[in-house]
Parts: sequence; structure tokens; C-alpha cells
Amino acid sequence: MDFLTHPLLITDLGEHHGVQLLLARDELTHPELPGNKWRKLKYNLQEADRLGLATLLTFGGAYSNHLAAVAAAGRLLGRRTVGFVRGDELAHRPLNPTLARARTDGMALHFLDRETYRRKHEPAVLAALLRETGPAYVLPEGGSNTLALPGCAELAQELLARLDFDVLAVACATGGTLAGLLTGLAGQRRALGVAALKGADFLRDDINQLTQQATGHTYANWELRTDYHGGGYARLSPELRQFIVDFQQRHGILLDPVYTGKLLFGLLDLAAKGHFRRGSTVVAIHTGGLQAWSGFGGQPG
Ligand SMILES: *Cc1c(COP(=O)(O)O)cnc(C)c1O
Repeated sequence: MDFLTHPLLITDLGEHHGVQLLLARDELTHPELPGNKWRKLKYNLQEADRLGLATLLTFGGAYSNHLAAVAAAGRLLGRRTVGFVRGDELAHRPLNPTLARARTDGMALHFLDRETYRRKHEPAVLAALLRETGPAYVLPEGGSNTLALPGCAELAQELLARLDFDVLAVACATGGTLAGLLTGLAGQRRALGVAALKGADFLRDDINQLTQQATGHTYANWELRTDYHGGGYARLSPELRQFIVDFQQRHGILLDPVYTGKLLFGLLDLAAKGHFRRGSTVVAIHTGGLQAWSGFGGQPG
């Protein structure tokens, strides 16, 4: 199942205010299944196999990178996939590029009104959905559960083996990826998360809970920045769009509109404000998510 076809590339983005900035190009590790969503899926797929469950069931919004990844994994690895999409079906006609692609990848799409969607993880609601679909391995929205961590830990371990760095930085939604990186770092170096959601202070508890469940302890060598959400989840301000366009012109690398744009914006701002020790090396992770540009009128430029 370890079919990442390309080795992890690391791009030097140069020195910024005395800080060496590197970008781990996890968005290039697989042409169709890149980034952190695959890393979070990997050990869940093994568990589904162990349990003899050939169907993967999951949830997501209409432009969800996680839904897209599960659908692609289903096609590439020969699993049946079922996706429950937030919002009424009529609102999603015609299917947007993310959902159309998921369907082409073989995902059976079901639409849930917002009230049911909100209650999707309640046992009675989930049981009713499973009666509809038949037995399935259930992945939570965003793909973050305990088994999502070891795949992300592998990325941290590879970076530790290859590079001498001070800070490992990643964008956060559920925090599952950051939690996995923390377990991989095992207390070494520091980690920094940039929340893509507004009001994400609750994430600190979620992240501690995930590492606790996975490894039996929490870590102290990390921080979460909640001040670079840029207006909220899936909001792309004109300033952030311009930043992404400028970044692409300067470095030849496209960032995604929901996560990595905010991450790099935040890191450069923190560097300018002297947040990092002079002479330190910060590794940012490009977690992928480029398919989400379809929700923002296509890729810029
Ligand atoms: C989902 C996603 C994240 C956030 O991952 P979490 O594990 O939910 O914190 C970051 N970057 C990209 C591109 C994503 O798709």
C-alpha cells in the first residue's frame, strides 16, 4: 500500500529575516493522492483490510480534500467508497469539480441536510446510514482519528533523518496532521500549527487528546497560531490571493487557497516579527489541497 511514487522533495525558499525557510513538497508525492490526506488514510486502510471491510464510508463538504482523497484511494486501491456530502442534493447540481471527480473515481455520493450532517457521528444516526450503505469502515470528516497519526509521524521521521531543522510547521483544520507530526518528532525540535479556521482555540485540546490516545502522552514542544485564519475557513481574502500569486511568481510553487497559503503567509509574518531565533531553520509542509482551487474559480495566474 506504500505506493507514494515520488520521493519527498525539499525546496529551499531562502532566508527571510534571518530564518532559513524550507518547504517539504508533500503535494508532489503522488499525482492523484498527494499530501496529508493520503498520510492520514494509509493506516486506516490497513485497518479496514484487517477488519475485512471492503467499503470506505466518509463525510465532507462539497469541496473537501478528504472526500477527494478517499475517492481517489478507492479507485487506485480497488475499494468501494461512499461519501456523505454536507447539504441538500439540489444545492449541489450540477456537481462541482470535486464531487464530479469523486463520482468518476467511483464514490457513491449521498447528500445529507445540514441538521443530519451535524449529527452524523451520533451512534443512532451513523447506524441508520450504515443500514443504507451496508457494512463499511467509517472515516471521520477530515480523516483524523488515532490511526491517522502514524502516517503523518512517518513524514516527521523522514524529515528528522534528512534535515537539521528547528521548527516543523503545518496548517491545521482538525489538527490530526499536527498531532501525527508531534508523535513522529517524539519531543524533539519544535512544531508550529497555523489554524485555517476562525476561533480554533479548541484545537489545542483536540491535538493533545489525539496524541494521548495514540501514544499515551501529550507533548509540550509545539504551539498553535490562531491569528492567521484570514477571515475564516474557506475564505480567500484579496490579500491572501495576492500573496499566493506573488509566492508562485517568486518560487514557482502553487499554494492551496484554504491551508498552505495561510501557513506560508503566517510563517513569513512571524519571521518578520522576530518570532523565530535568528539563524534557525523552519520547515513548512506543503500538504497539498490544490484540487480545492476549483471552488475559487480555478487556479490563479
Ligand atoms: C486537511 C488539510 C490540512 C489540515 O489537516 P488536519 O489534519 O485536518 O489538521 C492541511 N492542509 C491541507 C492541504 C489539507 O487538505
